[in-house]
Amino acid sequence: MDLKNKQMQEQLLTITHGFEDYQRQLGAVSPPVYFSSLYAHPTFEEYMRAGAGRDENAYIYGRMSNPTVRLLEQKLAALEFGADALVFSSGMAAATSAILSVCQAGDHILCMRDSYRPVQSFMASVGIPRLKMEMSLVSGLDLEEIRRAIRPNTRLMILESPATFVFSVIDIPAVAALCRERGVITYLDNTYCTPLYQNPLNMGIDLVMHTLSKYISGHSDVIGGVLVSRDGGLIREMRHSTREWLGGILGPMEGWLAIRGLRSMPARLAMHQDSAMKVARFLEDHPRVKAVHYTSLASHPQAELIKRQMRGHAGLMSFEIDGTPEMAAKMINALKLFGKGCSWGGYESLALCPMYGATEEAARTSGVTRGLVRIHCGLEGADNLIADLAQALEAMDKA
Ligand SMILES: *Cc1c(COP(=O)(O)O)cnc(C)c1O
Repeated sequence: MDLKNKQMQEQLLTITHGFEDYQRQLGAVSPPVYFSSLYAHPTFEEYMRAGAGRDENAYIYGRMSNPTVRLLEQKLAALEFGADALVFSSGMAAATSAILSVCQAGDHILCMRDSYRPVQSFMASVGIPRLKMEMSLVSGLDLEEIRRAIRPNTRLMILESPATFVFSVIDIPAVAALCRERGVITYLDNTYCTPLYQNPLNMGIDLVMHTLSKYISGHSDVIGGVLVSRDGGLIREMRHSTREWLGGILGPMEGWLAIRGLRSMPARLAMHQDSAMKVARFLEDHPRVKAVHYTSLASHPQAELIKRQMRGHAGLMSFEIDGTPEMAAKMINALKLFGKGCSWGGYESLALCPMYGATEEAARTSGVTRGLVRIHCGLEGADNLIADLAQALEAMDKA
């Protein structure tokens, strides 16, 4: 068995059976949801010991830990080949906790320009003015630019690959090695790939973030986030500091829904990928489409790098129509199956122009146009999605 397949087989076992024991739960094959805000102990001394020991599997109070949530953490840590994981009430709670745990006043953060915008907004409105941190934006695609931007006080680099506008990819092992050499901690948002299609910790990244709100829960009914690291000490420190004190632990019901979502993630992703590949080829051949940005296309400018570090592709892509942003909006409105909304990773198809409200200038600096259309290919079936896109692209020209 080659390494890739061996790792995938291991991941499938983690998803289906990992850290679970039917006998511990009266034979139930679905783990219980522990709805309990506190945990009672047989003696006061045992209660005191549970608190002092900082044992991840000893329970005291629901803001610190929960057995359902812990099972999810164990599974996610194993799926990313990390030492431990910590789950949060949202992807943003995970992201901001990572910054607050790793950095302090006076530290400098390097951030990829194309990374998730709300993290940059947090830095602009809290990190920089209130906590006296510094931040520089870089493309992430150019090692020399990163090398030049690192300062003596650079503590953290925020990365995302692929980024979710035009799906540019960073050379993860190269960026991780450069940062490590200069003492900079690397954080990578791996939401697009899920742990099944890319494992950044195995490429030298220090902290991996996923929002559970996308493919991991997979049914558009959960908000949650996770941080995973090979450094169990770092996760333990966050568990007992930022997560405990900011109060951002995931709820037990959301934890259970995410465990349930994980069970079908490999099957769902395979279908998202298959549909998206067919839709991308259809769009690439369409006379009114100027460019398609999707990670599986041979026309992707970084196709070689993608083959080296990713094992699969998701349902998200973007494209440029031959027309104005207003025509793009008209095309989106003509879509019948695609909901008009943000987010992605659920069962349903979605479409929007992510930069529509921006100025031309702001759109250009992020490397896209105001009319860029981003779609998520859901589980409605490739032929249904293609037929819908075909009629909408035709409707675009009608008065
Ligand atoms: C949705 C998303 C997030 C934020 O996650 P929340 O759970 O909504 O806070 C972060 N990164 C990426 C790439 C996302 O798509």
